[in-house]
Amino acid sequence: MARRIVIIGGGAAGPKTAAKLRREDPDSIIEMYTEEQFVSYSACGLPYFIGGVIPAMEELLVRSPEEFNKHGIKVFLGKKAVRIDVDKQSVLLQNTDNSELEEVFYDILVLATGARPYLPPIENINFKNVYTLRKLQDGVNIKNKMKESKVVTLVGFGYIAIELLEAFIQNGLYVNIINPHEHLMNVFDDDIAIKIQDYIMKRDGDKIRLYNSDYAVRFDGKNGNASKVITQNGFEFNTDFIVVCAGVIPNSEIAIDAGLKSGLKNTIWVNSHLKTSAPRIYAVGDCCEKHHIVTNRPCWLPLGSTANKEGRCAAINIANDNCDFEGVLGAAVSRYFDFTVAMTGITEREAKQSGYDVITSTVTKEDRAGYMPKAAEITLKLIVDANAREILGVQGIGTGEAEKRVSTATIAIQESIKIDEFMSIDLPYAPPFSTAIDPLLNAVQIINDKLNNTNR
Ligand SMILES: Cc1cc2nc3c(=O)[nH]c(=O)nc-3n(C[C@H](O)[C@H](O)[C@H](O)COP(=O)(O)OP(=O)(O)OC[C@H]3O[C@@H](n4cnc5c(N)ncnc54)[C@H](O)[C@@H]3O)c2cc1C
Repeated sequence: MARRIVIIGGGAAGPKTAAKLRREDPDSIIEMYTEEQFVSYSACGLPYFIGGVIPAMEELLVRSPEEFNKHGIKVFLGKKAVRIDVDKQSVLLQNTDNSELEEVFYDILVLATGARPYLPPIENINFKNVYTLRKLQDGVNIKNKMKESKVVTLVGFGYIAIELLEAFIQNGLYVNIINPHEHLMNVFDDDIAIKIQDYIMKRDGDKIRLYNSDYAVRFDGKNGNASKVITQNGFEFNTDFIVVCAGVIPNSEIAIDAGLKSGLKNTIWVNSHLKTSAPRIYAVGDCCEKHHIVTNRPCWLPLGSTANKEGRCAAINIANDNCDFEGVLGAAVSRYFDFTVAMTGITEREAKQSGYDVITSTVTKEDRAGYMPKAAEITLKLIVDANAREILGVQGIGTGEAEKRVSTATIAIQESIKIDEFMSIDLPYAPPFSTAIDPLLNAVQIINDKLNNTNR
């Protein structure tokens, strides 16, 4: 008899699991439930929709329920999973319109419930004009509010905030940024984060007010609308609206309540086949724990790239149980206008905390032959384990092509390529694309010299 496979969550990992499963197991019954009114959309594109680079929200929709249906995948919108019964192999769903409950039974259950924005303890954070960005509707709401506003306040500053900053500046807003760290983009090492901040402030400092090493403690206003922000360091300023970008937390409660083993930071624990601790239940995407390839330890780096790969791998395992998900490096890239910020692996800070004997090299070079019209500067920082002679992490920023160097390094890290071997990697060269010795190889050579210099 055909197996009934129930997927909870319709963001990135759920739809990817469903689509791959359809190909791997043509006979199974596949049902996908989501609490939202949209399914299978690119949250990653939301900042560009808000900014106007992508004119219509519809362009972010990857696949419609009808398209899924055509391939025999039934999609149910507005259905929130509220309880899992592991023994009965059932999920209790609540209709988001009328709160009616229904129970569905599964042979295999896939949890792809993602994550949600973390809301820090700020007085009046539930005011109407305080937003977070996660779902499609959040993007629509922020865009509408932006159009009638002059001043916005960003609380927290990571990948989502840097993209939102671009969108707001592009649309002529003044932006207050409250950032708990010494520099913007603290996910990078300080020496790199300073350069990112310098670029942002040099380009648009007349429109940005920066409150570093500070926290929002209260929003003040009338009729449930915030018009003033008060910070821990005693600053007070006016704002038309606020977007809180203070990180995310996993949607793991229904799994933990059902007795599934939890992982780091309240995620759902999974093994390398994406199986949870409960029989016949898989978890994929932002809701589940990850394995860090460099540190060989559990981690939680919730990214769309990972969610898609995990969905694919889980589907293969549901069909044939022969996909091993190796883990993640946290490779990520973003931009502020023409300035790329990219990283892979661990930072110098994390490497030192983990006890590695760390050496680093930082180079600032043009990304292609200097005489080419589009030549632009990039800075690359390599973090290396001096004992193993292996790269632990790379950070690349600049107006040139930093991302492709970080991508190349990602493969070297994942494959544990030694510095000595990396020196002779045959990267392509022509003046419009690179320099005769690519900036990444240049940084590797500096590391090699340092490693061979016993007085380092
Ligand atoms: C603005 C923004 C920009 C981003 N940019 C990037 C980027 O450039 N690169 C990158 O790699 N990543 C990026 N990400 C992260 C990426 O979007 C996520 O990692 C990815 O969406 C995770 O996919 P997921 O399927 O695990 O979770 P989600 O996409 O969050 O999907 C979870 C789904 O589960 C549903 N759900 C949750 N609980 C229940 C329940 N109890 N019952 C029913 N349904 C439920 C939700 O409604 C949702 O449909 C970005 C995220 C945001 C918000």
